Amino acid sequence: MQLATSIEELRAWRRGAPPTLGFVPTMGALHEGHLDLARFARSQNAAVVASVFVNPLQFGEGEDLARYPRDLAGDREKLAATGVDLLFAPEAQEIYPHGFSTTIDVGSVGEGYEGALRPGHFRGVATVVGKLLHLVAPHRLYVGQKDAQQSAVLRKLVRDLAYDCTVTIVPTVRETDGLAMSSRNIYLDERERHAAPSLHRMLRRFLELVKTGEPLEIARTKASTVLEAPGALDYLACVDAESFEPLQALRSNAFVIAAARFGRTRLLDNLWFPQ
Ligand code: AMP
Repeated sequence: MQLATSIEELRAWRRGAPPTLGFVPTMGALHEGHLDLARFARSQNAAVVASVFVNPLQFGEGEDLARYPRDLAGDREKLAATGVDLLFAPEAQEIYPHGFSTTIDVGSVGEGYEGALRPGHFRGVATVVGKLLHLVAPHRLYVGQKDAQQSAVLRKLVRDLAYDCTVTIVPTVRETDGLAMSSRNIYLDERERHAAPSLHRMLRRFLELVKTGEPLEIARTKASTVLEAPGALDYLACVDAESFEPLQALRSNAFVIAAARFGRTRLLDNLWFPQ
């Protein structure tokens, strides 16, 4: 596997013009969820590029940018073993040189839920992925269902700006107790880690209730009792999978989504309906 840390090196590799190219953007500290995306990409394309870039633009003030886990040596080994052809791992100044000011705002799909709690977050995500798509020029982009709103934002980005690539959403990879894998899970202390799978159980309960026609507010109240202390709920909702507009009743192509804080760590999860 080749490593590129500069745009110039990436462009030089890209001139090789593989007939089909899959791209997996990540922030590193890779786990099985990320590697599943890479394996999917590997199975469908002649070549695969992964990126590892902790994107400062998508972190708000007081968030965990400085302490976000980093393990480039470990990531390199894992990606090479998965058959990735090129790892792009630039420094922040390579992507955001002095004076950088152009950003991408995808509008309302990024305004609710995570966008409301983390102002500017999806502008940061859309800007970096927009730039990476432009540089890597893949035929297929692979993103995780785990970050459902992010995947809706990126589908919108690709459609609105007419990138010549498809977007594949890969199902969430979970620990055996149901907790969605996340680079941030390592922040959890023992008590928080023990309670964290209740986020997934709460979502399953919520989906069960709304499927049987229980009004949303009542379903939310009942299901939220499943969340275990010290979990503190940020939101539990039912949304349209494309627009991320809130739904008042379940219908097909919807997500039930939730976010909760466990100590200083925010965890997200979702279920897709039908699934
Ligand atoms: P991140 O490094 O957290 O920015 O994630 C990079 C990509 O991996 C995103 O498309 C995520 O949605 C995806 N991803 C993260 N966790 C998981 C998981 N548990 N299962 C599947 N995909 C995931």
